Amino acid sequence: MSDKIRVRYAPSPTGLLHIGNARTALFNYLFARHHGGEFIIRIEDTDRKRHVEDGERSQLENLAWLGMDWDESPQNPNEKYGPYRQSERLDIYQKYVDELLESGKAYKSYKTEEEIAADREAQEAKGLPPVYVSEYKGMTEEEKASYISEREAQGIEPTVRIKVPEGSIYKWDDIVKGEIEFEGKNIGGDWVIQKRDGYPTYNFAVVVDDHLMDISHVIRGDDHIANTPKQLMIYEALDWEAPKFGHMTLIINSETGKKLSKRDTNTLQFIEDYRKKGFMNDAIFNFIALLGWNPGGEEEIFSKDELIKLFDENRLSKSPAAFDQKKLEWLDNQYIKNADSEVVFELTKPFLEEAGRLDEKSPYLVDLYKPQLKYGEEIIELTDLFYEDFPALTDEAKEVLSLETSPVVIKAFKEKLENLDDADFTKDNIFPLIKEVQKETGIKGKNLFMPIRIAVSGEMHGPELPDTIYLLGKEKAIAHLEENSK
Ligand code: GLU
Repeated sequence: MSDKIRVRYAPSPTGLLHIGNARTALFNYLFARHHGGEFIIRIEDTDRKRHVEDGERSQLENLAWLGMDWDESPQNPNEKYGPYRQSERLDIYQKYVDELLESGKAYKSYKTEEEIAADREAQEAKGLPPVYVSEYKGMTEEEKASYISEREAQGIEPTVRIKVPEGSIYKWDDIVKGEIEFEGKNIGGDWVIQKRDGYPTYNFAVVVDDHLMDISHVIRGDDHIANTPKQLMIYEALDWEAPKFGHMTLIINSETGKKLSKRDTNTLQFIEDYRKKGFMNDAIFNFIALLGWNPGGEEEIFSKDELIKLFDENRLSKSPAAFDQKKLEWLDNQYIKNADSEVVFELTKPFLEEAGRLDEKSPYLVDLYKPQLKYGEEIIELTDLFYEDFPALTDEAKEVLSLETSPVVIKAFKEKLENLDDADFTKDNIFPLIKEVQKETGIKGKNLFMPIRIAVSGEMHGPELPDTIYLLGKEKAIAHLEENSK
């Protein structure tokens, strides 16, 4: 382990970038940048069955989109540490497998998958936890030699297992959880460090890589806690100093109250999904940073630079983080509200285009709805009024229209609009017309504005009324008023 802070995000390219992975990457990133350390990306692609072709590209592209940058990766390797894909480091792992075999700390195991499964079933039937039972137990050296040659003659490929030392205890001071201790006897018996196909297992490869890449801190999800004793065992067997570990709490889906799971299909969980819906990357960065961490205080809006400055690993939360999509929408709206009009327009443009609604009016409409827009795609439903049939009224809205004063106000305002020359139909000329209605009818406040708003837009709330009327156009506004004054 080096004195310099070096952390890594080590995705397995088995799928798209998930919120949980993005959080792991983000906390490592903030930790590295806060301490002036290095942040590297390593691709853990030894699980060939679960490999997804596009996994690596999607991971890196979405991390970059979120605003993270990294010092080393398969694309920008440091000669001293590369390669950065585990599948390209097989000879490196082999060297250490051989070392452990030679020192007798590991051995070849010829038990077949069927035999292992049978052991497991027998243990289960007795209500015992699954433990690997050494096939060599009770054998003499001679018996052992003939067993091995028999199995080899049958063409059975061995795995390599590491021996769990008797009476061993593995403990570490976790950055998030404090002291954690595991007894070696609870590890499940001697475990596989190299599979039959010659690939290392995750728990072995990760140690070799973290050590050779001078990783100083391993910050990851707490689903990896049970792996840590196994990893500590490898550090010990190879006589290496282990890095510091920190295991972040799990993320709860606030809708189900359970662990956020890819099976919750009602909850969007991939960064790509949010990107496609027109969320702002800075907002998502901000949102993820608050999943299991906060700098204290009430404030919730932080820029990337502020987060780097404020980040403190000692404030990583011990209790589960809640993933609340509504909060993400709220936060995205905060960012949209404060963004330049052009930025927000760009965010909505692909959706307007796809809906066939991109026209000269679009930038004004987007601006009109900017204060309430939660994400780019939402512009479509928000602006339906301008392109679709008049919306169905809610009971509450109908009640307002049924007030005695409502038709009076609506009719009066409609007449004023009709009498306005087309050339005078400007944004600034609309509000004075409403004021004239007030003067003539004596009706004011809510009873004046609400019926007009509902008659024109079908909604009880929305953007500035004169702006809405202006963008709707004189003709359409009059038609709506006519329709709702009966
Ligand atoms: N490849 C592992 C994963 O995706 C990384 C675990 C670790 O950070 O050690 O879960």
